[in-house]
Amino acid sequence: MKPSVLSVLLATSTSFALAAPAPPDDGKLRIICFGAHPDDCEIQVGGVASMWAAKGHHVKLVSVTNGDIGHWREAGGPLARRRKAEAERADAILGVTSEVLDIHDGELLPTIENRRTITRLIREWKADIVMSPRPNDYHPDHRYTGVLVQDAAYMVTVPFFCPDIPYLKNNPVFLYYPDSFQKPNPFQPDVAVSIDSVLEKKLDALDALESQFYEGGANGYPELIPSDPAKQQERHRQVRAGFEKRYLDQAQRFKAKLADFYGPDKAGQIKHAEAFEICEYGRHPNAEELKKLFPFFGE
Ligand SMILES: [Zn+2]
Repeated sequence: MKPSVLSVLLATSTSFALAAPAPPDDGKLRIICFGAHPDDCEIQVGGVASMWAAKGHHVKLVSVTNGDIGHWREAGGPLARRRKAEAERADAILGVTSEVLDIHDGELLPTIENRRTITRLIREWKADIVMSPRPNDYHPDHRYTGVLVQDAAYMVTVPFFCPDIPYLKNNPVFLYYPDSFQKPNPFQPDVAVSIDSVLEKKLDALDALESQFYEGGANGYPELIPSDPAKQQERHRQVRAGFEKRYLDQAQRFKAKLADFYGPDKAGQIKHAEAFEICEYGRHPNAEELKKLFPFFGE
């Protein structure tokens, strides 16, 4: 049978790894977050992502690789499938759209093909906000995710780059996740948000990424996974406590920035936080616009 025009178009577009349809133009915010592996976005922005989603804003978390070497015991296609399913469970808990690109873990490169893929994803989502790791993070996939998003930051507005997808007339605001690397320059927070109201939800989502945290991911080992149900419960508690401490530490580290947005009294009561740095590329929001993009500070 001769393929229809539609089936040819669909076959062409699916080669760009389009999983979720773009959200409707309903005046809500549109946020797309990139992480290198099926757990990075959830760790870095899971709290704020679920807060946006609860207000009806459109949030998509994209893992740029399929995570297929991210375990000490298993690898390849079966691990990629398992991690995609875990990310989908976690993202369903957060109330956001999930996508995992089928690029091998540990092999991501800043190629033209990948630049096109990232550009298309940002344009399809018609993003107001784009998030990524900084390009000096420790893992090569994290670094190149940062580079690819930086490389797309201007190109999303250029009509004849990827002319098959309408270019963005408004350049999005690009934001970085925090890290602790100091060279060539440390992370500098521009916005910090309390995630106290959604902490349990975020910890539930991270708990769903079992291969990575409960089982220890690439650096895990058999003794991490007890066979005794009571010890398994204890292991789950341990994972949750580890993440809770991470967000407690972030609230301490970004206390001054929390005070800028919430005022010193309220900021002093915040226990858990996420923070982001504005990238020099893309649109630069003023304080007023930043409060519209993060509509949480009056609560
Ligand atoms: Zn990662």
